[in-house]
Formats: sequence, C-alpha cells, structure tokens
Amino acid sequence: HPDRRTLSLLTPSGHLTLGNLLGALRPMAAGQHEADCFYGIADLHALTTPHDPARLRDTVRETATLLLAAGLDESTLFVQSRVPTHAQLAYLLECTAHTGELNRMIQFKEKGRGVDSTRVSLYTYPALMAADILLYRPQQVPVGADQRQHVELTRDLAIRFNSAYGPVFTVPEVTVPPVGARVMRLDEPTRKMGKSDASAAGVIALLDSPDVVRRKVARAVTDSDAGADAVRRSPDKPGVTNLLEILAACGASADGLTTYGALKRAVTDAVVAELEPLQKRYVELAADPAHVDAVFRAGAERCRQVTAPVLAAAEAAIGL
Ligand code: ADP
Repeated sequence: HPDRRTLSLLTPSGHLTLGNLLGALRPMAAGQHEADCFYGIADLHALTTPHDPARLRDTVRETATLLLAAGLDESTLFVQSRVPTHAQLAYLLECTAHTGELNRMIQFKEKGRGVDSTRVSLYTYPALMAADILLYRPQQVPVGADQRQHVELTRDLAIRFNSAYGPVFTVPEVTVPPVGARVMRLDEPTRKMGKSDASAAGVIALLDSPDVVRRKVARAVTDSDAGADAVRRSPDKPGVTNLLEILAACGASADGLTTYGALKRAVTDAVVAELEPLQKRYVELAADPAHVDAVFRAGAERCRQVTAPVLAAAEAAIGL
C-alpha cells in the first residue's frame, strides 16, 4: 500500500443517489491505487437525529452492498460502530473541546434551528468526526465546503491535545477533494441532489429502475426558451446545465442535441447505461450477504489494528 492515506465517511442517511455516485463513489474508486484508502459507513453519525432502528440497519446494509458494487473492493471498507476506537477517542476529544467552539459550528446551528432541544450527540458530533480523522493519521483530509469548519476544529483539537499532553496526533491539512461532478436535483436544479431526500421526484437513486429514471428525467425542469440553441450551458438555465453536466459525467456526448426532448432521451440512456452494471453487481452481492459481511468484517479488523496504537498513545498521554 502507498504511504499516503485517504479517509472518507458516508453517513447512511438514505438511499445513495446519482450525485453520490458521480460526485463521490466514482472519484473514490478511481483513486484507490494512489493511496491507502479507508472508506467507512458512519452509522454513529446517523444516530444524531431522530432515526428508525430497522431502517438504519437496512440503509447500512444497502450502502455497504453499493460501495462494493461500485468497485471499492480494493479499499478498506468498514462500518464505524464496528471499530470501537472511534467512540473511545471521541470521548477524549470531548474532554479537549470547549462548548464555546462547538456552539459556533454552523451545521449544529442549522440542524438545531427552530427546535428547542436536540440529541446531545448532534452537538458533540464534531468530536466524533475529529476522532474519525485523527485515528488514521492522514496527512491530508479532502472535504467539501460544508465540512470545512469541522476539519478546522479537528486541527485545533489535535494541536491543543498535542501541546497539552504530548505529540500524539498528526495535524492534517485540509485539501479540496478531487473534482467529481456536482449533480443538482432535477426538479429544483439549484439544490444539491442529496440522499436525505432520495424519495423526491427530482432525485435519482442508484437502485432506480430504467423506467423510474426515464420518468424522473422526463419531468426534469429545463427552461421555457426552446429556441434553436436551447441546449446549452448557461447560469440562467440551471436545469439544462445540470442535464448537460450529468450527460458529460456519464461519458456521453451532447453533440447534435438541439431539443430538450432529445437531451432528456440522451440523459436517460446515459444514466441507465451508467447504472446498469452497478445494479447487476448489486443484485449478485445482495444475494450473498455473507460475502459483504466478510469484507466489512475484515475491513473493521484492519481499522482496529491501525487505530489501536493511536488510541493507546492518546490514553497514555492524557493520564489514563
Ligand atoms: P448527501 O447530501 O447525499 O447526504 P453527503 O453530504 O453525505 O451526501 O455526501 C456524501 C458524498 O457524496 C460527499 O463526498 C459529497 O460530496 C458527495 N455528494 C453528495 N451529493 C452530491 C451531489 N449532488 N453531487 C455530487 N456529489 C455529491
């Protein structure tokens, strides 16, 4: 394995979408040989907001199977709760963080807006995320804009811990992730296609059948301008721009497409072709859950081995 380590966690908050595939899973699969990759399903993070136990279990299994179906089998795959060092180190980092800095976290303020009480874990989430990262001593952490503040806090906690108790943690650099496509909702093209609203009409789930894909793309928002050069990227045509982006990300050409009807047919065909091998593999893997379990069990075992010395060093340094 190369020396460089990459780590990325996905929260099992719903069905994975075309956005997750083109924006995350594809670049993750492509980068598997350039680094020692750890990809986790963050089930503990899914407990920070109201949840249904049976649904969470199903979502974790579906996500695990999809990660394998997407070709991430050369990486170390794991489910966060199966690697207890994450929760253990999180507690030590809660003992390092201050309420003042957690109060400033934008995600907590946004998710807590309008409700007078939240789960305590939503508030302490950044300490667990810091543990997720620091346990693996990555030199760099690629994160999108929405997680930047949390990784800055991770750095602050690592620096504070190191100066108070000794040099235990590698202070990671925050980097911009490899560019994948940014996919927007088909019905509201100014909003990201996210898995928390995977049931919406404008969101393509990875397991949607060709018919469902066709129906969703057919209803995609375009623009009232249907003139001769209607099919072009433009800031005032976010729906058309999004369809062209999806087409390009699926490796199809937009040459010769003039009407919205033709564009939508091309997008449907490209998305169906992109999803077909993934869905075929998914069906095979879903029929063999013992194999999926074995892969994730081996992944968790490797994670425990890699992270145990870091936790032990942190415990010793803090006086346990
Ligand atoms: P979601 O909004 O689907 O819950 P997350 O915030 O958990 O997604 O992100 C999981 C990964 O998928 C991240 O790497 C994120 O950048 C990527 N991702 C999520 N939605 C999209 C999208 N619509 N387009 C591109 N990438 C996306």
